Amino acid sequence: MKNEAKRRRFFHRPDITVSLSIPMAVLLVLFGMIPTLLCTQVLISSLRQSHMDSRMVEVQNQCQILSSKMTRTGYLRGENKDGAMDNEIQTLADVYNGRIVVVNRDFRIVQDTFHIAEKRLMVAEEVIRCFQGESSSKYNKDKHYFAQAVPIYDTAPVNGIEGVLVITASTEGILSLLDAMLDKAVFLELLVFLILILAAMTAVKMLLKPFKEFQKKLNLVAAGALDTDISANGYRETQDISRAVGITLSKLKEVDQSRQEFVSNVSHELKTPITSIRVLADSLMGMEEAPMELYREFMEDISYEIDRESKIIDDLLSLVKMDKSEAELNIAQVDIHVLVKQILKRLRPIANKRKVELILASIREVTADVDEMKLSLAISNLVENAIKYNTPEGWVRVTVDADHKFFYVKVADSGIGIPEAEHDHIFERFYRVDKARSRATGGSGLGLSITRNVVLMHKGAILLNSKAGEGSTFTLRIPLNYIA
Ligand code: ADP
Repeated sequence: MKNEAKRRRFFHRPDITVSLSIPMAVLLVLFGMIPTLLCTQVLISSLRQSHMDSRMVEVQNQCQILSSKMTRTGYLRGENKDGAMDNEIQTLADVYNGRIVVVNRDFRIVQDTFHIAEKRLMVAEEVIRCFQGESSSKYNKDKHYFAQAVPIYDTAPVNGIEGVLVITASTEGILSLLDAMLDKAVFLELLVFLILILAAMTAVKMLLKPFKEFQKKLNLVAAGALDTDISANGYRETQDISRAVGITLSKLKEVDQSRQEFVSNVSHELKTPITSIRVLADSLMGMEEAPMELYREFMEDISYEIDRESKIIDDLLSLVKMDKSEAELNIAQVDIHVLVKQILKRLRPIANKRKVELILASIREVTADVDEMKLSLAISNLVENAIKYNTPEGWVRVTVDADHKFFYVKVADSGIGIPEAEHDHIFERFYRVDKARSRATGGSGLGLSITRNVVLMHKGAILLNSKAGEGSTFTLRIPLNYIA
C-alpha cells in the first residue's frame, strides 16, 4: 500500500512530466520483443528435444544391429576370435563419444571399451531388467549422457538372452551444437531489438505528428495570433481537442470584445458630462458681462453634470466590485419588508417631486438570507427607474411576497413601459431605450446591470413584464436560504 502511494506520488509530481513518446516506444518494443523471445525459446527447446530423441533412436538402432551381429557371430560364446567384433564395438563407442560394456549371462563384463572393468561383475538394475527381456534407456540431464541396455540373443537359447550390451553415449556434442545455435539466436534477438527500437522511434514520430502540428498552432495562438486556424484533423482525438480549444478561444474573443466595448462605453459616458461642463464654462467665459442669474443658471447646470459624472463613477465602482469572482456576499437574516420600507422612505422625496405615488403592499412577512447592502441597491435601482420613467400623477407599487422556497419583490409602475424588442438589451451595461430621457434624469445606464448582478449573486432571477406605453413590472425571485 505504501509503495503504491509512493508510486502514485512519483508519477503525479507536477515537475516530472514524461513524454508520451516514451511509453509508446517502450510498448511497441515490448510488443515486438516478447513474441520474438518466446519463439526462439520454443524453437531451441523443441530442437533440443528432437536432437536428443533422434540421437537415442539412432544409438538404439546401432546397438540392435551390433547385438544381432554378436548373436550371428557367436561373440559371447567365443566363436569369433579375429577381434573384428571388438573393433566394431570400439568404433561405435568412439562414434558416440561413449562407452560400451558387454555383460554375459553370469553378469560378468566380457568387453569394456574403457578396458577398466573387464571380468568384473555388473549387477545393475537395467542389466537385470534386460535379461528379463526389457530394453531400457535413460537420460541423465545433469551429467549430459544417456544409457541404453540392449539384449544379445542366443541362437541356441537356454532362456533366449545370452548377454546384455550397455552403451553410455555423451550428449555434449548435441548440447554444444545447441549452445552455438543459442548464441546465434541471442545475436538475432539483439538485432531484432535494435531494429524494433528504430522502428518504434519512427512510428512514434509519425503517430505523434498531428499532436506536434497542433501544438505548433497553439504556440502561435499563445503568442497572440488568436485568429490562427487551429483545426487538427489528424485523429479524432486531436479533432475533439482542437474543437474544444476553438470554443474556448471564441469565448475568450467574446470576453475580449465585450471588455473593449465596455472600455470605450465607459470613456464615452465619462466624457459626456465633462464636455457639457466645458461647453458651459467656455460660454460663460466668452461672455463679456453676463448677468448674475445667468451665472447661477450655468453653475447649476455644471453642478448637475458633476453629479451625473459622480453617479456614473459610483455605479461603475459597484459593478467592478461585483464583477470580481471573489466578490463576497455579506449574508445575514434580513426582514425584507423593513428593507423595502426604508428604500421607499428614502426615495419618497424624489417621487413627490415628480408627483408619483409610492405604494407598498406586503403580502406576508419575509425574512431571508441576503446581503442587505447589495439587495438594497438592486431594489433601489428598480424603484428609482419606476419613478424616473413614469408619467406625472403616476404610481409605483412595490409588493413583497414569498412561498416556501423564494421571496418575491415586484416593482410595478404606470410609466412609459419598455418595448418588447428592448427586453433582451436593457440589462446590458450602458444600454438605454430613450437615451435623451435617461441622461435628462441623470441615469448612468448601469442601474439594471447592477440589479441583475446582485440577483445572480443571490442565485435568483429577474423577470420583466412590460409593453410600450403600458407600464412595467420587474419581479425579483430570490431563494429564502442562501446556499453557497
Ligand atoms: P438608467 O441609468 O439609464 O436608468 P438602467 O440600467 O437603470 O439605466 O436602465 C436601462 C434602461 O432601461 C433605461 O435607460 C430605460 O430606458 C429603461 N428602463 C429601465 N427601467 C424602466 C422602467 N421602469 N420603465 C421604462 N423604462 C425603463
